[in-house]
Amino acid sequence: MGERQVLFTKLSTLVATVEEFDRLTVEALPELLERATGHARRFLRDTGQWTDDISHEKLALRWGYELLERFLVCGRSEVPCRPFFLLDSIIAKYFSQPEPLCYHKDLLSPLGRFLEGITSRAVVSRDALMALFYHLYGLSQGQVVRILGLGAVESQRVYKNFERWRQTGWQRAVAESGVSETELRQIEDQKHRQPEQLKAEADRLIRLVQTHYRRSEPEHFSCLTNQKWADLFEQDYDYDYRVWHLALCRDCLIDVYDLRQDELAGIQSPQIDLRLRPLQKGGIVTLFWAKSGGGNGHAGGRSTQRLSGTSA
Ligand SMILES: [Zn+2]
Repeated sequence: MGERQVLFTKLSTLVATVEEFDRLTVEALPELLERATGHARRFLRDTGQWTDDISHEKLALRWGYELLERFLVCGRSEVPCRPFFLLDSIIAKYFSQPEPLCYHKDLLSPLGRFLEGITSRAVVSRDALMALFYHLYGLSQGQVVRILGLGAVESQRVYKNFERWRQTGWQRAVAESGVSETELRQIEDQKHRQPEQLKAEADRLIRLVQTHYRRSEPEHFSCLTNQKWADLFEQDYDYDYRVWHLALCRDCLIDVYDLRQDELAGIQSPQIDLRLRPLQKGGIVTLFWAKSGGGNGHAGGRSTQRLSGTSA
């Protein structure tokens, strides 16, 4: 028996302990990913959504990663189990949800893939989560901090590694979503030629994608009433809820804006204003660095220099 064959046999055999499960899944990650991606590819074929090209391959691979992640997260609590069978059953369950995201053919358009790609990253990366405010509504960091009512400590916490998004995170999300440079240019071109049409299309897709991905975090899933939002801001608690839910819920973001309008002079109500590429300069960061630095204007100047120096 070849090495690969031995691994396949192990993956189909009962794993008795969590330690064994961890060891085996680490060793067999490529095989597990291959199997998950195969399921995704088959699903697309069976539902008439497959085309033999690189963007569909990338889409299948991305779903493969997502499915594998689900398996790794919940698999440990299913021990004892047969890893391959457990993976198959998790995937079958995923594809038989009442409304799996992949049924929506619209999401196979370049714009759909872009929006789904960055939103799916936002579920696992705070950089991506914070970036949504910019990519969907064109909001600067300073504006986001004010709308969300974040203090200096919170602002620094959520934007701490944001440079990473500009340098590698965005690239990775776009690569995984299978959107090519040509397609990005096409969307940008449409933004100039038919801005209203693009906005309407984005509005519909954003709603679809956000509703789907909010489910992945049940604790922060529910939309709050205006009263509850008002309490949350007045009593100054639950920053996580604000950040997570408002990044993934356009309706609540607008409600919160309306509610806090008096404190948001100079900021317009968040409208869809797609920005496909990350903001290259870190200039906006100065807004709150300078503020939190106790009026020390030089601190802001230094961070701008540092950021623009590294964001070539
Ligand atoms: Zn909401």
